[in-house]
Amino acid sequence: MKTLHAAQTIAARLGLTRWSPATRVASGLVALMVALILIADLFTGFFPDRLQDAKRYRSSAATLVMAQVSTALRAGHTESLQEVLGSARRHEPQLVSAAVRTVGSEVLASTGDHARAWKLPPGTHSSIDNLRTTILTNGEPWGELQLAFTPALPDSLIAWLRDPLLQGLMLTSALGFVAFQLYLRRVLRYLDPNSAVPERVRTAFDTLTEAVLVLDPKGHIMLANRAFLALVPPGGSALSGFAAASLPWLVASLPTDEPLPWLQAVRENRPVTGLCLKIDTAAAGPRKLVLNCSPIDDGSGRDGSGHVRGCLASFSDVTELHERTERLRVALDELNASQREIEAKNEELTRQATRDPLTGCLNRRAFMQETDQRFAEVVNGGAPICCVMCDIDHFKSVNDQFGHASGDVVIQSAVKSLTRGLRVGDLLGRYGGEEFCILLPNTSMAQALEVAERLRADVDANVGDALRQPARPKVTMSFGVAQWNKSVEAPAALIDLADQALYFSKKNGRNRVTSFAALASTGAMTSPAPEPERATA
Ligand code: GH3
Ligand code: MG
Ligand code: MG
Repeated sequence: MKTLHAAQTIAARLGLTRWSPATRVASGLVALMVALILIADLFTGFFPDRLQDAKRYRSSAATLVMAQVSTALRAGHTESLQEVLGSARRHEPQLVSAAVRTVGSEVLASTGDHARAWKLPPGTHSSIDNLRTTILTNGEPWGELQLAFTPALPDSLIAWLRDPLLQGLMLTSALGFVAFQLYLRRVLRYLDPNSAVPERVRTAFDTLTEAVLVLDPKGHIMLANRAFLALVPPGGSALSGFAAASLPWLVASLPTDEPLPWLQAVRENRPVTGLCLKIDTAAAGPRKLVLNCSPIDDGSGRDGSGHVRGCLASFSDVTELHERTERLRVALDELNASQREIEAKNEELTRQATRDPLTGCLNRRAFMQETDQRFAEVVNGGAPICCVMCDIDHFKSVNDQFGHASGDVVIQSAVKSLTRGLRVGDLLGRYGGEEFCILLPNTSMAQALEVAERLRADVDANVGDALRQPARPKVTMSFGVAQWNKSVEAPAALIDLADQALYFSKKNGRNRVTSFAALASTGAMTSPAPEPERATA
């Protein structure tokens, strides 16, 4: 364990701490593995000792060659020494060169590039690569046999890299690293990451009323706080290490056509907030949650941003809030509906209070109110204003002849004709049973006479058709017109002048228009006009 720790410390010093935990642990394990192999070799020696082997092999080779050289010298065949050395070199693959020298350094025979391969200075002992054996004659040194071998150990970096033992060790380390990493990645996922989270951090998360998940960059659950576990009781701490995407209730409540929010937050290193989820919890029934995902950034970058180490997903339970909002919305809707109803009723009441139910035009009271208002506006501004009184001729006989209901139809039809001929600002009111009063603001007498004549012609031409009788009954109206002047103090006085003109129309053949001004100028109206007979509705 100490070795593993040491390896990890070295990795940290080398700046490898940015590697993933799996990579770092795999590196440490490889270092540990190599160290153990070497320690095991120290005790068991299962790696061959190449120096010892080379030494043994080379001294036996030297003995063999020496025997052949001695035989040749004893037979006095110094010329065959060359052949002996050549044959030895052919049969010994490690033998690079060989030579036989006399004590006086005369080379009697040599094979290979001996001057280059022989590196021992005279009088020194043999090395592992250069072996010298003294040739004795009669107990006295006569010369020496020199054998130069290939280097027993690699003598350069490239040679070392080509060394099969080292290559084997490196290949084992590389394969071991890959295998360890794959295995660790898989194993770490199933380890309980909760155990890696300090107790105080877990306690802090558990005190939150919000459900919180801490996820790794690949969306595996590192920590689920108590509030989250309360949402999904069967999960428990077994959630740790599992992909958040493997929680069916969670994924089912997310939009299918968008990436998982926590992965998106990690990928884009920005918060993904405000996702509304509807889930059905076993404990608390259907709940409404708002999901916010914030990347966990280690801030190691120069600009303050850094490597994203994971994601914090919080689930705010807004069920109560939604329910309250929904109740409020329903109450508001009801309030609006009742307000609309009250408005409609008020409108209806106003309509009933101001409108004549048979014809829909202003009733007498509303007409007089409106007239007072308009009268004041127009008169104060100095604009002309006229009043027209009109009455259906011989209406009693219509009732008598066709019945009261037909009489109503005639009244309605007469109002249609009157309305058609008026402008928007004009006022039309039902003054009595079949008698109507019209106020024409901003209208001169000449214009008012034109209007009244147009209305009269319209009634004459159309109202009789309303009864739909085979023989078209004749329905006409008589009109009286008066213009305001300074002697007229109130609207009622102006209406009275128009009424007098109407009375004149009635007395002079009906179905006609009379101007009070013309009446006054001809002196036809010298005394206050008697009240015409009126029927009330
Ligand atoms: P004149 O040409 O002089 O005005 O004669 P007239 O018959 O029209 O006048 P009169 O005042 O003699 O008769 C008016 C009649 O109108 C009496 C009344 O029964 C009738 N009347 C009043 N209001 C209504 C109503 O709302 N519907 C119906 N059908 N008849 C009404
Ligand atoms: Mg009448
Ligand atoms: Mg009348």
